[in-house]
Amino acid sequence: MTTLVVALAVAALMLASIVGRPLLQRRRRKALLAAPASGAATAALAATRAWRRLPLGLRPRLEARVRVFLAEREFVGCGGLTVSARMQVEIASQACLLILNRSEHVFDQLRAILVYPDEFVVRDHVEEDGVVTERERVLSGQSWDTSRIILSWRDVREAGDGYNVVIHEFAHYLDHEEGAANGTPLQGDPRDYARWAQVLQHAYDDVERRARAGEETLLDPYATEDEAEFFAVASETFFELPRELKREHGELYAELARFYRLDPAAW
Ligand SMILES: [Zn+2]
Repeated sequence: MTTLVVALAVAALMLASIVGRPLLQRRRRKALLAAPASGAATAALAATRAWRRLPLGLRPRLEARVRVFLAEREFVGCGGLTVSARMQVEIASQACLLILNRSEHVFDQLRAILVYPDEFVVRDHVEEDGVVTERERVLSGQSWDTSRIILSWRDVREAGDGYNVVIHEFAHYLDHEEGAANGTPLQGDPRDYARWAQVLQHAYDDVERRARAGEETLLDPYATEDEAEFFAVASETFFELPRELKREHGELYAELARFYRLDPAAW
């Protein structure tokens, strides 16, 4: 009997925490957004790349997303770097472009953004034919798991001309949303998957063929490392060179515009 009571109490507590958490989160976010933003925070946001290029109508939404993002996440300076409030806003504003018109819960599990001054070294293990070897890689960013993203500040600052490490790593993060990071993020409608796969594969083959032939490609040829990299690089191009992407890969642009629910070529 006692065991049954304890089991029921535990089940009730678990249920309360599952139901109660989103409720609490909703209340916290509502209170946060009801309070006026400080002048310094507004000025810092207005100075970001993301803000400056965004149409007026989308700015209030970016501001709301950024405020929640900053309140719920921790920025950790690595390698002696101090991550200033301005740096945090710069990173948050670019990351929030990706979820501007998507669910506000996409980054819920993300706890920390680790920022190095420059590229950083990651040691991990790879297995090939049953042989495990240690490897060392120099990276500008890494979407580590669903709780952490690592960035090189120098690369954040060097965004432009199709390159954007924040968009790249956060696109990988979105790709995790469905489970495996395989270049197919969560789609709104189950019927969208087939078209997504077809359009992205077509563009992937095109970039690969052109790169092999030594031709210039709009998308960084690194995109053809695998499907996950293709989605991340295509997202960078979508936000950084939207008009060029629309012209050169119209179907890919349309798929990404549908996925992000944004039309940056019109900004
Ligand atoms: Zn990548």
